[in-house]
Amino acid sequence: MYPRKIRAMLIAGNWKMHKGSSETREFCAALRARLPTTEGVDVVVCPAYTSLHDALGMLAVTEIGVFAQNTHWEREGAYTGEISPAMLHEIGVGGTLVGHSERRQYFGETDESTARRAQGAIGAGLDVIACVGETESEREAGETESVLRRQIRAIADAVSEDDRDRLLIAYEPVWAIGTGKTATPDLAEEAHRVIKGLLEVPVLYGGSVKPDNAAELLGQPSVDGALVGGASLEVESFAAICQAAIHS
Ligand code: PEP
Repeated sequence: MYPRKIRAMLIAGNWKMHKGSSETREFCAALRARLPTTEGVDVVVCPAYTSLHDALGMLAVTEIGVFAQNTHWEREGAYTGEISPAMLHEIGVGGTLVGHSERRQYFGETDESTARRAQGAIGAGLDVIACVGETESEREAGETESVLRRQIRAIADAVSEDDRDRLLIAYEPVWAIGTGKTATPDLAEEAHRVIKGLLEVPVLYGGSVKPDNAAELLGQPSVDGALVGGASLEVESFAAICQAAIHS
């Protein structure tokens, strides 16, 4: 079972709109074999909604957790097509991503809706990984820090101090997601320090994390883990990143 108390380091695999139920079962069986113990590192996978049940079943006897990729903020109501945090909690999901840049880019997610989702999810007993990060043009315009301040302030205003032990931030520079362009360890460290100066919670790095750059990124003092997209779809590369965290 996924341990509720967030540990020193967390590796999360965001599968996006990949892996239906049979692929999920195959992946989880292979991951179980490769990671019989996570040795003090929290490992979670974030399947699509329809594969959550399969992942939960396959990983029930392990230390590996299962998170959703998004959630609504209300417990229930007239919100056709949405899934509530209470529904996720009821089936055993341990947490959820909110505010991923693809949600912001393609589905109109805002700082405000991200913050509401974070608050609703924590209120329903889920852990939350809230994603923030600047676009390439914002970085080029020298706006990285002000963008992070704005995004973090919205989350900090919504989640009370008492609830922050369930909250993590993922710093995901948008220009590094799925592009193969990784932030340098120094650049990641600098952004993580800005975030931690605003909100004292663990901060994961996301953006083209691969087995060959994981150790260096995870070795930065302010990097508390990774949110991994593309490299989480293959069990070999995801397990290698988890191993890098275990040995960091
Ligand atoms: C992500 O989608 O959260 C992500 C970091 O993707 P990738 O690792 O593929 O850049």
